[in-house]
Amino acid sequence: MKTKEILPELFEVERLIHEYQGILHSEKLGEVSNGKFSFPIYGLSLGSTDPKAPVFGLFGGVHGLERIGTHVLLSFLKTLLFRMEWEKDWEAFFSKCRLITIPIINPMGMALMKRSNGNNIDLMRNSPLESSGKLIPLLSGHRLSSLLPWYRGKAGDAPEKEIQAVYDFCQKNFFQSQKIITLDIHSGFGFKDRLWYPWSSYTTPFPLEPQVLKLKNLLDKTYPYHIYQVEHQSINYSNHGDLWDWIYMDYLKSSPEAHYLPLTLELGSWMWVKKNLWQVFSWEGMFNPVKRHRYARTMRRHNHLLEFLLKATYYHDSWSRILTND
Ligand SMILES: [Zn+2]
Repeated sequence: MKTKEILPELFEVERLIHEYQGILHSEKLGEVSNGKFSFPIYGLSLGSTDPKAPVFGLFGGVHGLERIGTHVLLSFLKTLLFRMEWEKDWEAFFSKCRLITIPIINPMGMALMKRSNGNNIDLMRNSPLESSGKLIPLLSGHRLSSLLPWYRGKAGDAPEKEIQAVYDFCQKNFFQSQKIITLDIHSGFGFKDRLWYPWSSYTTPFPLEPQVLKLKNLLDKTYPYHIYQVEHQSINYSNHGDLWDWIYMDYLKSSPEAHYLPLTLELGSWMWVKKNLWQVFSWEGMFNPVKRHRYARTMRRHNHLLEFLLKATYYHDSWSRILTND
């Protein structure tokens, strides 16, 4: 079977790499295979190559079932790349700022239509971090059996190839920068679209909480009718092996004074199910909008948030000066 049929999202990433090879820098961060299929993991970057430039990072497809996150990401990227062809202001903007993305972190899981990777390991439970937060049995990550969901992998094993690739890509692209926002897009929790800020591993306040609250204030003032519920991730639950807490903690060792906000966009897929109960019977339908008009709405609903975060990364100093964190 061809990539276009089994993993159309990867086909689309490769098409973009080819079409925009002059502006979009791409690299193969690794390859995952299961004997039958083999897929590359692509990292893309756009804009300044200065290691100290502000960086906005977009990530999707950690959980193979949540392909809508990759679609939202690619929809934004395609619009941006096309706009750059005629809105010439972007050239000056990107001469000082960098956008980086891994649109499909878990291609094998996405191709096989499962949450975990090809080794049945949940990539959002696989980092070496142990949580001390509000743990829910199984859901927060366990080492009991790879046959159960939320499996972390064996104790002492090296991180899975996919999350090591994300770590290395982030380290290379922004560990020397002082202004960074990353957004990892998921779906499947609750009725609302939630913008989560860390931690997931600890119940103590996130060290940059005042900065996050200022950013929330900026979002509220810029888009007073926005739809996002901005909240601390561990309000809902904590988990072991969080990917972004791991990267953040290591980043902090090298740049303790810097501003790195790792955010998660959790698309509220229960509202798609509520409006279309038949989706409950479709494995993919629990995590993705099935009806055409609902899919289209999801595609256009988040573009302004992604552009807002890109601009907020670059203009960090100006909004940080004028806003408070209440
Ligand atoms: Zn997820």
